[in-house]
Amino acid sequence: MDSTEPEESAGGARRPGRPDDEELRARLDPLQWKVTQEAGTEPAFTGRYWNHHEDGTYHCIVCDAVLFDSDTKFESGSGWPSFTDPADTAAVETVEDRSHGMVRTEVRCANCGAHLGHVFPDGPGPGGLRYCMNSASLEHRAS
Ligand SMILES: [Zn+2]
Repeated sequence: MDSTEPEESAGGARRPGRPDDEELRARLDPLQWKVTQEAGTEPAFTGRYWNHHEDGTYHCIVCDAVLFDSDTKFESGSGWPSFTDPADTAAVETVEDRSHGMVRTEVRCANCGAHLGHVFPDGPGPGGLRYCMNSASLEHRAS
């Protein structure tokens, strides 16, 4: 073994907020791992939150940071949980994503670098944004 850090498949450099691979592998189910660590996407209309309407906050499944509030969740018809704004602008970071022959804006947890989904400029709110998230990246807590 040497001390070289393995390449991260998502999120770039290892973040202070990110648990060890071993702990994460044990805690996340395969889909949660694929989405958050390998920038995967759950199939539409299959996640636990696309049709979920309880009040509360949505936390990062990896590091538990508060990412979204139910107040900003709206019915997008996309089959993924959709929000007009993050709970705090500093809670998420965005990165240009040119994979799959498209130019999209990837959304990551600012604390741990977990892939969350993408943001599109066709939202219904004053900011005009639609945060299209994966249920697999989120954990809802009732308020
Ligand atoms: Zn996180």
